Amino acid sequence: MIDFNLLPKKKWPIFSPGWVWLCGAGPGDPGLLTLHALNGLTQADVVVFDALVNKEILEWAPNAELIYAGKRGGKPSAKQRDISLHLIELAKLGKRVLRLKGGDPFVFGRGGEEAQTLVQNFIPIRIIPGISAGIGGLAYAGIPVTHRDVNQAVTFVTGHDQNGNTPSSLNWSAISEGSQVIVVYMGMKHIDHIRMSLLNAGRDKNEPVAVVTSATSLKQHVLETTLENCAQDIKAAHLTPPAIICIGRAVLMRQVLDWQAQAAGETPRNVDPLNRGRPAESA
Ligand code: SAH
Repeated sequence: MIDFNLLPKKKWPIFSPGWVWLCGAGPGDPGLLTLHALNGLTQADVVVFDALVNKEILEWAPNAELIYAGKRGGKPSAKQRDISLHLIELAKLGKRVLRLKGGDPFVFGRGGEEAQTLVQNFIPIRIIPGISAGIGGLAYAGIPVTHRDVNQAVTFVTGHDQNGNTPSSLNWSAISEGSQVIVVYMGMKHIDHIRMSLLNAGRDKNEPVAVVTSATSLKQHVLETTLENCAQDIKAAHLTPPAIICIGRAVLMRQVLDWQAQAAGETPRNVDPLNRGRPAESA
């Protein structure tokens, strides 16, 4: 159990009135919060949180007013401006405002826009990064987002643009050629388009794909499929978002690294899924 008195003695930042701390909450498991986030929560007067933030985390802000600012689904959002204006208003009232966003605030979370609006309005800010679903969520599914035998690059893409469409600016051929592993945020709605784009760009139809829903939470579920079958399998499984989709051979590592299954007593399916045929640590 955690004894917070044992935390390293250091001068933790003081949350001054009138500041906004833009803070990542991680993908779900409250234990994936950073210590800076915890420090902010305990001092905050107001916590403005998003839909994907695990509500248990809010219990660490016992003195704060809690304001829900959720929006989901890549819909055009008139509310984004309202959220930024609300943050400015609260800061100008002299509140310590903790803006809590799922994962990392600067990864597909419009944190950059919010921060920019705050700075433009002379509100002092602090940015507290978080563990992004595309890294931490996959790790909880036993998938290393990079692995020496698989990829020297990884690409994070969003399946939605500002209008809820597949982003037209994405060059799928370039991504397909340049990145052995592709991690898709908000990809469920347009998975068929993404799949077709990658197949047309020459990716192997048998390439492994993992779809991790509610990653790191108690509801975490992992669907393993292939590029060819992913759209139909996702539909058949009636998966509910949030989901992170990993395309690439890194998914195979789950056969040996599904540590949650192993903790529950299962034995690894295959200790050498990439057929290295040599001890993993040998050069
Ligand atoms: N800033 C967030 C991402 C916000 S976009 C981050 O860094 O993680 C929202 C998308 O993130 C979701 O549609 C989903 O694709 C992904 N996501 C966030 N939390 C998730 C979770 N617990 N499990 C699976 N996907 C998640």
